[in-house]
Amino acid sequence: MARGGPRNKMPQQDAAKRVQNFDEVALGYTEEQAIDEAERCLNCKNKPCVAGCPVNIDIPAFIQLIKAGDYSGASEEIKKTNSLPAICGRVCPQEEQCEKLCILTKKGESVAIGRLERFAADYEAAHSTGESVPEPQNPELAKYSVAVVGCGPAGLTVAGDLAKNGYSVTIFEALHKTGGVLRYGIPEFRLPRNILDREVKYVESLGVKIISDIIVGRTFRVEDLLRNGFEAVFVGTGAGAPKLMGIEGENLSGIYSGNEWLTRINLMRAHREEYATPIKIPTRACVIGAGNTAMDCARTAMRIGSEEVTIVYRRSRAEMPARGEEIENAEEEGVKLMLLTNPKRFIGDEKGAVKAIECLKMELGEPDSSGRRRPVTVEGSEFIIEADTVIVALGQNPNPLIRSTTEGLETESWGGIIINEETGMTSIPGVFAGGDAVTGEATVISAMGAGKIAAEGIDKYIREKHGIE
Ligand code: FAD
Ligand code: SF4
Repeated sequence: MARGGPRNKMPQQDAAKRVQNFDEVALGYTEEQAIDEAERCLNCKNKPCVAGCPVNIDIPAFIQLIKAGDYSGASEEIKKTNSLPAICGRVCPQEEQCEKLCILTKKGESVAIGRLERFAADYEAAHSTGESVPEPQNPELAKYSVAVVGCGPAGLTVAGDLAKNGYSVTIFEALHKTGGVLRYGIPEFRLPRNILDREVKYVESLGVKIISDIIVGRTFRVEDLLRNGFEAVFVGTGAGAPKLMGIEGENLSGIYSGNEWLTRINLMRAHREEYATPIKIPTRACVIGAGNTAMDCARTAMRIGSEEVTIVYRRSRAEMPARGEEIENAEEEGVKLMLLTNPKRFIGDEKGAVKAIECLKMELGEPDSSGRRRPVTVEGSEFIIEADTVIVALGQNPNPLIRSTTEGLETESWGGIIINEETGMTSIPGVFAGGDAVTGEATVISAMGAGKIAAEGIDKYIREKHGIE
């Protein structure tokens, strides 16, 4: 492929086939495609792409290693700053981050940085005889313990970085499984669970202890951890409280939040009859919202055998917040879009189950604070659509448990934990926070970036407290 030409396409499972399974949709580059793509990189001296990566991977360096055929070397280079490369290569919105700043974006298509990152990580996993685990940099720090609350990408990153440094780290996780949204939210057809397991195992191999089924705030509190030998605590509890519509009929059966829908299918296998918490396979499912979660809900609904799945969104296609690739994939799989439409109320049958949605037509007005054009109701435009399943996927706020049980923890009015941006420390000395618990629902890599800042902040805090150089 010519240097200035388009990027190499990602091989994919055919849409008609993939909608019947939960296997990964994107199949990954072959060696030939990866080298060809790496050759498109101009190896710019000032490395603009690096500034777009929240964990500052030396992108041109790893791409040059791929070009030279040293794939394991490329993976090692990425791992210097990113403990979860196979995950990031799959789910990061690269087009809004590193790839956006690639010089080639101005001329056409950027280097496919994410796809190359995924290639290097997958190659390493397939060919290495065992993960090479770095020795702790400062073994004398092992006598200091740090507690991490929540085993999502923020918690895993803090834990991995502190363990590499030499600290003894324990993660406390509320669920029985690790990974946070990476496991209960993002479906397997975008992030296979063996990839997640592998990367969690890598963090464990650094010496991190993971204890699941512990709800901090209930089993014990943050201050109990500080009182019982932990020098510092990192709160990475994510944003698991769904935003609701607050309209008539929202409590009818058959109406789920996006998180509940995905958790029931991803974690509890509710679509399979042999599992204990079955859900009814929808005839007509409507998903409210148009972010990544909404796309995941709709594509999951297709895969469990729904007859028809429709995304209902109050703005137009241009304002849909989901990644372009996810919208395209959803449409290829048969998901329909009903744009400029907003639910007014949910209508139930005599048994209290949802059977329809009364909707209003919308039009676009002036831009609002998000910069997107504000949807305005078209008066008198009410119409009814049938739906026996509704999934409300309008985003999540931080869960209130930690803030309601941790005295002195300052939070925003909407629940986000307030931190010092430079250190990650909260209003309580020794308590740090990061990821969705601070920002509200964001991205995997921003949670990891926050984890890195907090790991440095915790290291500095403990060193100062104990007078360590
Ligand atoms: P989480 O991943 O939410 O992890 C928090 C962990 O803390 C969880 O395991 C939770 O069980 C645990 N926990 C909570 N409370 C307690 C407690 N009291 N005690 C102990 N443990 C607790 N981002 C992308 O970049 N790309 C995508 O494609 C993408 N798709 C998404 C799809 C869906 C369906 C969703 C919901 C989100 C998606 N995101 C995506 C967003 C991304 O997953 C999150 O921004 C990211 O996971 C946040 O990481 P975190 O570590 O802060 O929190
Ligand atoms: Fe390569 Fe693009 Fe980074 Fe330049 S900006 S080094 S072309 S990936």
